[in-house]
Amino acid sequence: MRILTSFLLLIASSGCAVTSQQSELVEAGRPARIDTLKANIKKSGPIHLQKIVAADWTADRSGLINLNDPKAKAAGLTGGDEDIQIYFYVLDHPRFGRFFIDSGVSEVILKDPDHTPISSIVDSVMHIARLRLHQSTKSFIEKDPRPVKGVLLTHMHLDHIMGIPDIRSEVPIYIGPRESTHKNFLNMFVKGSTDELLQGERKLAELRFTGEHSPNHPRVIDFFGDSTLFVISVPGHTPGSLAFLVSSDDGPQLITGDTCHTRWGWENTVSPGSFTEDQQQNQQSLEWLKDLAASIPGIRVHPGHQSTEDGGKLENIGTR
Ligand SMILES: [Zn+2]
Repeated sequence: MRILTSFLLLIASSGCAVTSQQSELVEAGRPARIDTLKANIKKSGPIHLQKIVAADWTADRSGLINLNDPKAKAAGLTGGDEDIQIYFYVLDHPRFGRFFIDSGVSEVILKDPDHTPISSIVDSVMHIARLRLHQSTKSFIEKDPRPVKGVLLTHMHLDHIMGIPDIRSEVPIYIGPRESTHKNFLNMFVKGSTDELLQGERKLAELRFTGEHSPNHPRVIDFFGDSTLFVISVPGHTPGSLAFLVSSDDGPQLITGDTCHTRWGWENTVSPGSFTEDQQQNQQSLEWLKDLAASIPGIRVHPGHQSTEDGGKLENIGTR
């Protein structure tokens, strides 16, 4: 019995990686400094950005917002269903072509319950049946078939990789530091589904950031090397979580990923709740992103699963 208990404790403490797919460390773009980023982000840049609403969904507020935060308590926030959305972003760079940030939702998730890549246990926790699809990734690509050069993932939670089956397997998938390799107990339940979604000869490319992370100086990559797309390492929600600062033809845009899920969380600087791996680090990363946004005039901010007031209805972006 003692051996069994120790074994279970060992498993619980170590967990497993989110996928069995191998990743490769890649050099992409060039290291950037925060001050260069602030100095170089333009009022209007060359990237055409579209925010696509893939689906409506609901999730529990206790996962989306840290309800133990004094501000959440003062606001009287409690657990219960919160309406959210699943987005992906399409970036068209005049020289480097089309990239996605996150992946949307594939039709295979919803079409055929017998062949969905999502396991039944994950399905029951994530309430996949509540997903209301607006536009699958496949239908977007069919309507606008410009080749996708790469997918940049804010992180590898299932609701951010559900569109991968609709994307050609040779398209590289860029991820943050240790995102696919760090171990977590909960990964034991999602690894099978993650592997299914990433099926095939996928190129998982882990971005190489230089230097050490510090909460006041997150590491940054100038992805195209022309100060139009900055990739920012914001660990906390997951170790490899990424945020993106885009110099778009509609002004500077900050895509936070799930460092902040909700509009309320962004406006009140309160990090996510139980969906986050490292609460304290997530809060530090969120506070840093808030400071960054405050220092860039005219910036529009896009939290992971809801729209902010000044961000507007994001589906309006890029459809002028
Ligand atoms: Zn997440």
